[in-house]
Amino acid sequence: MRFSKLRLTGFKSFVDPTDLLIGDGLTGVVGPNGCGKSNLLEALRWVMGENRPTAMRGGGMEDVIFAGASTRPARNFAEVSLHIDNADRLAPTGFNDSDHLEIVRRITRDVGSAYKVNGRDSRARDVTMLFADASTGAHSPALVRQGQISELINAKPKNRRRVLEDAAGIAGLYQRRHEAELK
Ligand code: ATP
Ligand code: MG
Repeated sequence: MRFSKLRLTGFKSFVDPTDLLIGDGLTGVVGPNGCGKSNLLEALRWVMGENRPTAMRGGGMEDVIFAGASTRPARNFAEVSLHIDNADRLAPTGFNDSDHLEIVRRITRDVGSAYKVNGRDSRARDVTMLFADASTGAHSPALVRQGQISELINAKPKNRRRVLEDAAGIAGLYQRRHEAELK
């Protein structure tokens, strides 16, 4: 399973549809201050289920929608689509019936956000579970924020263990146990 492309439409500063092709190995994003590097990483977290406005550097979830510029009016929706190459057929159960997965999240003003997986309406929980079982997701330790290394060094042992659990791919089990305990 490998991310192959991220497409942003009306997401933050990316008002026109913009594709980021993700090749093998390490992907670096470089550019001048304010060109949208952090917005790209936020789009990746968002399509995988990020729901904390603070993690998106906004006051509310609708702040991810293009807010307008001197020459362009604001948009009514933001959409991010993540293409995943599943030729190795290693996607978690329930998502493993094709060589290609496309996860789409769209937020519309005053309506809210919705997900589709390969064109079918999906629940937010299914999408977060897909990424948790694949050892990635909005909170994946593979996405390293500025300042995160020193946070990890100073973290409480319990929080540090959570990072190891994510990396080991058992975060999905942890979430299912938590849900079972609530029932
Ligand atoms: P730096 O190198 O300083 O970290 P960066 O490349 O990470 O910069 P970002 O923080 O990703 O840049 O992009 C910031 C730009 O995105 C700003 O110009 C900001 O106005 C714009 N932006 C953020 N949210 C929106 C929005 N909802 N609508 C329009 N533009 C937005
Ligand atoms: Mg930045």
